[in-house]
Amino acid sequence: MAPKILEPSYPTQSLQFLRHHNISASQNGRNENQDSAKVPRAAVLLNIIIVGAGLGGLATAIALSRRGHTVTVLEQAPALGEASPVGAGIQIPSNSTRLLLSWGLGDFFGSKVTEPEGMSFLRWQNGEKIGYTKLVPDFQENFGAPYYVVHRAHFHDALYRCALKLGVIVHVGCKVEAYNADAGAVQLANGVSYTGDLVVAADGINSIARREILKENDKKPTATGFAAYRATVDVEKIKADPELAWLLEKPSLNIWIGEDRHVMTYTIAGGKSFNMVLSHVDRSDPATWRADTAIEDMHKYFHDWDPRLVKIIRMIERTIKWPLMNITGLPKWVASSNRLLILGDAAHAMVPYMSQGAAMAVEDGAALGEALSLISHRAQVPLALEVFEQVRMKRSYQMQEASLLNGNIWHFPDGPEQRARDEAMRPEVEGKHFLSSANQWSDPVTQWWAYGYNAETEVAKVWGRRHAALGSVLDESQNGFERLKVNGNQANGH
Ligand SMILES: Cc1cc2nc3c(=O)[nH]c(=O)nc-3n(C[C@H](O)[C@H](O)[C@H](O)COP(=O)(O)OP(=O)(O)OC[C@H]3O[C@@H](n4cnc5c(N)ncnc54)[C@H](O)[C@@H]3O)c2cc1C
Repeated sequence: MAPKILEPSYPTQSLQFLRHHNISASQNGRNENQDSAKVPRAAVLLNIIIVGAGLGGLATAIALSRRGHTVTVLEQAPALGEASPVGAGIQIPSNSTRLLLSWGLGDFFGSKVTEPEGMSFLRWQNGEKIGYTKLVPDFQENFGAPYYVVHRAHFHDALYRCALKLGVIVHVGCKVEAYNADAGAVQLANGVSYTGDLVVAADGINSIARREILKENDKKPTATGFAAYRATVDVEKIKADPELAWLLEKPSLNIWIGEDRHVMTYTIAGGKSFNMVLSHVDRSDPATWRADTAIEDMHKYFHDWDPRLVKIIRMIERTIKWPLMNITGLPKWVASSNRLLILGDAAHAMVPYMSQGAAMAVEDGAALGEALSLISHRAQVPLALEVFEQVRMKRSYQMQEASLLNGNIWHFPDGPEQRARDEAMRPEVEGKHFLSSANQWSDPVTQWWAYGYNAETEVAKVWGRRHAALGSVLDESQNGFERLKVNGNQANGH
């Protein structure tokens, strides 16, 4: 019999051959494509309140309820849905689909998701292909999960139906106005209050829970100097133009990049709608932005770009300009009472230049579900939350960095840096072997870090290390908890 191989502590892909053959490289006995129905229930079952039924809140509800926790979601909106009239698309990268599909979301996505065959980087002026990432079949083969694009409303609806099937209770029209972190309680605008063992606030970028946890250390969202117009175009209009029809031949992502601007495009809703995010550097105060001139302003920003792109931009009938904000460097996400925490955009809103904001929220939910499933008694909840916070802060703040870096890499003016960048992407366009790329979707190291990441496995690894460091202390009962904290701090050199 072959010896058991332990997961290496250094970055390596040398054991991928085992995963390809579905042989465990000691991931604590876990199979990456678990059947949701067969997932073991957590040993300690909690009553959990989630505030916010956005993509992050619902994904977290699923991750927790499939482990047996009782989950109630409170949403301020009078009805559910991410049905935005403009800019309706979202990418679901492989690090997110791996989790979602293992939770059974495939049945709820049905045919609503699209798997683009690749992502092309195009020169701003003439649409010449300067970079290319092959998504199909590479991402499925390498990372064990597909790369999808989808209408936000369809994604949201799939999460909602899956959550309901798992027994999650969702209340709409419930605006949380106050938190009591010590009591694990929230109070609604109508005076009703809810109490849980744990309150998870997935209440978005303007989170009031963040304020409750951080008090005077709360950080406001900061302007990144980037803004985006979001829009959709009827594909029939594009199809009707022979110069543009190539864009619809195969499902694909196309991104034009140039000085201070870029335009990301792909089709969604079963090929019926063409989704566009048109981004540009803008340091002006959003309070001065005018909705009535948005289309005209957008035309000005891109008037001298690839004439084919300009044609499509002229087909846009409605748009909204969004400021792209960051929340970063928070000292903590978990209240000292260990009964309230934040995740998703509330904890790490980022520019969408890696298309990973919602994926990070899905990973947060997965990490929390995993951390809470590893404990064997209630006194270990603080340790589970500490592991969750440690793993998720590192990952999501690194993803913010990668996202902002794309804003720099893509926006070079024509000149030496732009030429060096395009040169660095040439091998991938020519189908040649390469060891690095200026395209972070293709760069082999970034690719593995971004898409090969498994949030559940990562938490299990860190928990395993903490467990090993703490030894038998962890196995002691409630009374030993204070000792556990003391020893834990010593083990970490605090
Ligand atoms: C232009 C653009 C493109 C993007 N593209 C991608 C992409 O391709 N891929 C990707 O992964 N991400 C993308 N993102 C990021 C993604 O949209 C967000 O990261 C994600 O939607 C955040 O989800 P969330 O649940 O944390 O927050 P939100 O979506 O903001 O949800 C918060 C929810 O909480 C509710 N709420 C707030 N306060 C209260 C309260 N007091 N009481 C009760 N309910 C409350 C709100 O009503 C809302 O429903 C993009 C973002 C932008 C701006």
